[in-house]
Amino acid sequence: MCPKEKTENKRKGGKNVYGMEPAELKSLFVSWGKPAYRGDQVFRWLYQKKAASFEEMTDIPGELAGKLNETLGIQSLVCLKKLRSGDGARKFLFGLEDGRRIETVFIPEAGRRTVCVSTQVGCKIGCPFCVSGSGGFIRQLTTHEIVTQVLEAARLTGEEISNIVFMGIGEPLDNTVHVLRAVRILNHPLGMKIGARRITISTCGLIPGIETLRDFDLQVKLSVSLHAVKNDLRDGLVPVNRTYPLEKLMAALEDYDRTKGRLVTLEYALISGINDSDADASRLAGLAGKIKAKVNLIPCNPGMGDAFRAPSGNRTYSFKRILEDRKITVTRRNTKGRDILAACGQLVFDREPEAAESNGKEK
Ligand code: SAH
Repeated sequence: MCPKEKTENKRKGGKNVYGMEPAELKSLFVSWGKPAYRGDQVFRWLYQKKAASFEEMTDIPGELAGKLNETLGIQSLVCLKKLRSGDGARKFLFGLEDGRRIETVFIPEAGRRTVCVSTQVGCKIGCPFCVSGSGGFIRQLTTHEIVTQVLEAARLTGEEISNIVFMGIGEPLDNTVHVLRAVRILNHPLGMKIGARRITISTCGLIPGIETLRDFDLQVKLSVSLHAVKNDLRDGLVPVNRTYPLEKLMAALEDYDRTKGRLVTLEYALISGINDSDADASRLAGLAGKIKAKVNLIPCNPGMGDAFRAPSGNRTYSFKRILEDRKITVTRRNTKGRDILAACGQLVFDREPEAAESNGKEK
C-alpha cells in the first residue's frame, strides 16, 4: 500500500483527536504501555498551543508522534471563505471532510469574544422564518467538527474565545451526544477552559434534550426559542410544538430550573403582525414570570420573504415595555453581522457541496 492510500484509509476510519477527551487520550497511551500523562500533554498542545500536527509537539517523543499519526486523524476544518461585518462580527464558511459546508460566526463585544457554532448540516425543525434551516436536514456534526469550529475561530481571529453559543445552523438538542462531548472538551481546564456558565445551548424546545441537559453535570446555560405564546401559532412557527406543546415545554423548563438551579432564557423573535401584539407581550410576561425566565427579544431578521419582517421600532419598544412593567428582565438581541448574513437565522447551509478538490482554497 502506498503511503498516500494509507493516509486516506486512516482518515476515513480513524478517530479524530479533536473528538477526544483527555481521559480517552490517556487510556490510549496506557494501552500502548506508555505513561498516562502523555494524554494531558497532547491535549494541551492541541488547545493551548494550537498545534496542527503531532510532530510539532516537541515534548512528545518522535516514536509516539508516529504512532499517534498512524492511529488518529488530526485534520481540522478547512476555511473556504471569510466575511467581515462593518460591526466587527466575522463569518467563516468551513468545509467538512465529506465536502459539506457549515458556517460559524465570531462576535466581538465589550469584554467578550463569542463564537456561534453550528451543530448539524441543515436542520429538521423547519421554522418558516429561519433561512438556516430552510433546506432540510443532511447530517449531524460530529464532536470534532463542533470543537474545531471554536478552535479555528480562535486561530483565524487570533483572539482568545470567552463564550460559546450553540446558535448556529441546526438543533443542538437533536445532536446531544456530540454537543455535550464538545462542551466537555471546550470546557476542560487543560484546553480552552471556556467556563460552563459562558456556554449557552439554544433549543427549539425538544423536551428529551432538555432533560438530558438537566442531568448533565456542567452548569451550561439554556435558551429556548419560544417565539409564540399560544399553541396554534407556535405549531406553525416552531413546528416541533406539535410534539412538545407549550404547557409540556413550560413544565419541563420549570423542572429544569428546580433541579439544576439554572434560570432559563426565552428567545422571542418579534415578527410584525404575527406575534407582536400587546396581548402576546402580556401572555409572554405571564409565562416568563412563572418560571423566572429572562426574555431576549430578537427583531426578525430578513431572509424568508415579506411575511416575516421585524416590527417598527415603536412596536418593539411597546412590547418590551409591557414585559418590563411586569418586572421581567428583557434584553434586545443586537443584530450584529446582519450585513454579512451572520445574524440569527441567516446562516445558509450547504445546498450544493463543492467538490472536495476545491477545499483548501481561501477565498
Ligand atoms: N435550533 C436552535 C438553535 C438555533 S439558534 C433553536 O431553535 O434555538 C438561532 C435562533 O435564531 C433561534 O432562536 C431561531 O429561532 C432564531 N431565528 C431564526 N430565524 C430568525 C430570524 N429570521 N430572525 C430572528 N431570529 C431568528
